[in-house]
Amino acid sequence: MKKIFCIGELLIDFIAENQGNDLAKAEVFTKKPGGAPANVACAIAKLGGLSKFIGCVGPGQFGSFLLGVLEDNHVDISLTQRSKSFTTIAFVSIAEDGERDFVFSRGADKKLKYDSTIKKSFQDNMVHFGAATALLGGDLEAAYGRYFFDALTQDAFISFDPNFRGDLWKGDEHIFIKKCMPYIQKAHLSKFSLEEAQLISGKTDLEECCAVLHEIGTKVITITLGGEGTLLSTENSKHTIPSIPVNPVDTTGAGDAFIGCLLQQIANLHNPKEILEDIDLLIGMVKIANKAGALTTTNFGAIPSLPDQEQLQAN
Ligand code: ATP
Repeated sequence: MKKIFCIGELLIDFIAENQGNDLAKAEVFTKKPGGAPANVACAIAKLGGLSKFIGCVGPGQFGSFLLGVLEDNHVDISLTQRSKSFTTIAFVSIAEDGERDFVFSRGADKKLKYDSTIKKSFQDNMVHFGAATALLGGDLEAAYGRYFFDALTQDAFISFDPNFRGDLWKGDEHIFIKKCMPYIQKAHLSKFSLEEAQLISGKTDLEECCAVLHEIGTKVITITLGGEGTLLSTENSKHTIPSIPVNPVDTTGAGDAFIGCLLQQIANLHNPKEILEDIDLLIGMVKIANKAGALTTTNFGAIPSLPDQEQLQAN
């Protein structure tokens, strides 16, 4: 089984209670672990995969709480760093339609230092670049770029999720798009939400979105469509793969569960790059990953709702 390195932020989400999408009115917040790459690492490990988290948390109880969550979910934290900066937090509002809004207070996540000793272990393994905050400057962006270079030179299987957060890029969306380009160009697998696919490609029609994204370079594209399932696109074919019907209560983490489950299955192949040539294999994997995404919406919070193998098989 291949190891999957997940690089990026691990933070505390303070979720506003009962105030729709109005953070200004919110008075009560619930503390939850968050950060897309950390969610993905947990999704993989909970399904029995080997995930290692490369990221940085702060000192004190918040940092310890987050490391404890990763450990409880069997994520390898031997590469997770602690800095003197406070643990990053995000205030999150969830509107009635499930749409989320974020206000970030960044601390330790951007202090991640590059560690040149990790490079060798990327060889023949898989690296997932899915940080929402990685392209915003600071040590994290520098480390991210160097780990990306290492993943390329070590011939690792590379997965990319842009995790666009409007709040972080207001007015600078064009910079975000530009910074995503090398990752989309080189990734073996890229996962987009519909909003991200449209923003980055500059197209609204899904066929046209895929054409532009393939032209940039990525071989396999998944565009997650919420309750509608997932569009899987390769240069030769496109398939919309429906999800399973559920009664969603909170969609947080569905995309992370999806990509985590897909990567966990790919990691079981002798050669992960096999999926680039085998569309039937990919379709089967996306069907299962859709289930993981759907099941995650049936409970509150991202990490506690991630399914294990037993739940996945039962549905
Ligand atoms: P995130 O919100 O975590 O950034 P995202 O927007 O990429 O992620 P979604 O499209 O909401 O993620 O969900 C990912 C996958 O989970 C979908 O492709 C689908 O398979 C499944 N899913 C999400 N919502 C539902 C739903 N309401 N019913 C059934 N399946 C769902």
